Amino acid sequence: MTNFNFIRTIAFSLLITLVACGKNNEIQLSKEYQGVEPELWGYFEKFEKEAADRGVDVDLSLVGITGSIETIHAHGTVGLCNHRLDQPNHVIIDKTFWATASENSKEMIIFHELGHCFLGRGHTDAKKNDGTCASIMRSGKGGCVDFYTNSNKENYLDELYTENESH
Ligand SMILES: [Zn+2]
Repeated sequence: MTNFNFIRTIAFSLLITLVACGKNNEIQLSKEYQGVEPELWGYFEKFEKEAADRGVDVDLSLVGITGSIETIHAHGTVGLCNHRLDQPNHVIIDKTFWATASENSKEMIIFHELGHCFLGRGHTDAKKNDGTCASIMRSGKGGCVDFYTNSNKENYLDELYTENESH
């Protein structure tokens, strides 16, 4: 093997590794969000990308959406959209929930709170025939079952961004 071929092989393997990593690690950072805990940036960016895929223009930093991970004392509450004078649209994700939740649960809760904070949506407990929630904007107080999985999240995201248009 010539030196050149050797280098080319190495470079190619590296490229494969990078592509493979990129695929496993769905969330890749390329933006920063002022006033948002860095652990949440990837989810904020994904929220923008999913919106763009559906023709909805979202720039969370432009409108000053902030966010943090902290202890929420209200029992059973894992996320909030908090309105304060200095942080009018602040997403809070519960620390204990964050430590153990699956990627899809984290994404669903953050997107749910951004549904309140950014999209201005309220709750709906509408359900499908099988009892699963029709929307991730469910109240979480029963009525329907969460089913935000890799195979059906597309439907939930379609609903999330387009629901407002029908009103
Ligand atoms: Zn809510």
